[in-house]
Amino acid sequence: MNQAYNDLSITKAQGLSRNGLAPNRLRGFGMTMIVMGISFILYYLGFFGSVDGPLTPDKIGSAMAAWGVTRLHVITVLLLILSVAIGWNWILNLIHFARGSRLTCAAGGNAPRGVCGTTVKRIHRVPKRSGKTVVEYVCTHGHRDSGAHFHPIKKGPSSHAIWLACLAFLLIAICYV
Ligand SMILES: [Zn+2]
Repeated sequence: MNQAYNDLSITKAQGLSRNGLAPNRLRGFGMTMIVMGISFILYYLGFFGSVDGPLTPDKIGSAMAAWGVTRLHVITVLLLILSVAIGWNWILNLIHFARGSRLTCAAGGNAPRGVCGTTVKRIHRVPKRSGKTVVEYVCTHGHRDSGAHFHPIKKGPSSHAIWLACLAFLLIAICYV
C-alpha cells in the first residue's frame, strides 16, 4: 500500500520534470492556432470593422435593431453569461460542500506528505454528555476528526478565457456607440 503510493508519486514527479512541459506547450500552441484561425475568419467577414463583409459591426447593429434587440438587451445577456462564467465553480463548490463531497481526511497518517488524505464521510453525532449535535468526518482508515480538507473545483485556462472574453464583449457593448 505504502510502496504503491511511493511509486506513484515518483512517476508523477518524473513525468512533470521530463515530459510534462512538452504536451502542455503543444496544447497551448494548438489553442493559439485555433484562436488565430477564428480571428482571421472573423476579420475577413468584417467583424472588426476594417474589412467590408457580412459581419461588419454596422450591419450587425442594424440587423439586431431590426430584430428589436437593444443595447440594454445585449448588456443584460452578456452580464448573465458573465456571472455564470465566473460563478459556476463557486456554486458547484457550495453544493459539494453542503453534500459533504470532495472532502479528504486531515488526520496525520504514515503517507509521505504526513496527511491521511482518503475520502471522508461527514456524520452528525449527538454525544450523550453534551446532547448537542457534533459534525465529524470519518475516513476508511478509522480516523475521526472535527475537520477535513475541502478540495474546491478551480477554473482551468479555457474557463478563465471564457469569462475574460465575456467581460471584453460586455465592455465593448457598454462603450461602443
Ligand atoms: Zn484518515
